[in-house]
Amino acid sequence: MRTLVIAIDGPSGSGKSTTARALASRLGLAYLDTGAMYRAVADEALRRGVIDDADAVVAIARDTPPAMGLDPAAPTVGIAGRDVTTAIREPALSAQVSKVATIQAVRDVLSDQMRAIVARAGRIVAEGRDITTKVCPQADVRVLLVADPAERVRRREAELAGAADHASVTDQVVRRDRDDATMSQFETPAPGVTLIDSTHLWPDEVVARILTLVPWGAREP
Ligand code: C5P
Repeated sequence: MRTLVIAIDGPSGSGKSTTARALASRLGLAYLDTGAMYRAVADEALRRGVIDDADAVVAIARDTPPAMGLDPAAPTVGIAGRDVTTAIREPALSAQVSKVATIQAVRDVLSDQMRAIVARAGRIVAEGRDITTKVCPQADVRVLLVADPAERVRRREAELAGAADHASVTDQVVRRDRDDATMSQFETPAPGVTLIDSTHLWPDEVVARILTLVPWGAREP
């Protein structure tokens, strides 16, 4: 089987999940949401009451690796025997996840797990903050998806459909970017990474642009 790895990075609200899932469905590839792995570890740490204890959080990442369902039509996430697919989208969890993601040892452990998942799948779209640079720098296609902050806040608000007010959504998007940016650089593309600004593009247009980057020979397994 020919392998095909597509790596997409970007800040929250840049459209990377929508894009990555659509692309994976279109090309018949697996889909890995790496942010969901950080979210799952944060969820388990909160459940155990150890979110502020770095060593305990590292132990969770190492001893109870998130179980990732890779179907782009219905991705799932589990940890320590619990299905957390829905729970990890709660605004309260989103507000805490950077605490976990800024622990370097957690990043090292989860990054190794991500590489193993990608290697096992062979043909996959993986999205996150450092996939193009750290996790899969050798990916066949590497894209950094960005969008203006105001547009990203608007998209998150639409997604949450009134479940959170403007101030808390802005905090989730802007403050989280700032915290996350201390660990990985996802505002400017690394050499060889294609920058796509989705502010004025429809999701289909973003997918179409990325498709032009996929080598013809790699489209079929
Ligand atoms: O993409 P999503 O918003 O679900 O990611 C949740 C959090 O996981 C981010 O805020 C960031 O802290 C962390 N993350 C990361 N590196 C990745 C993917 C996500 O640090 N590759």
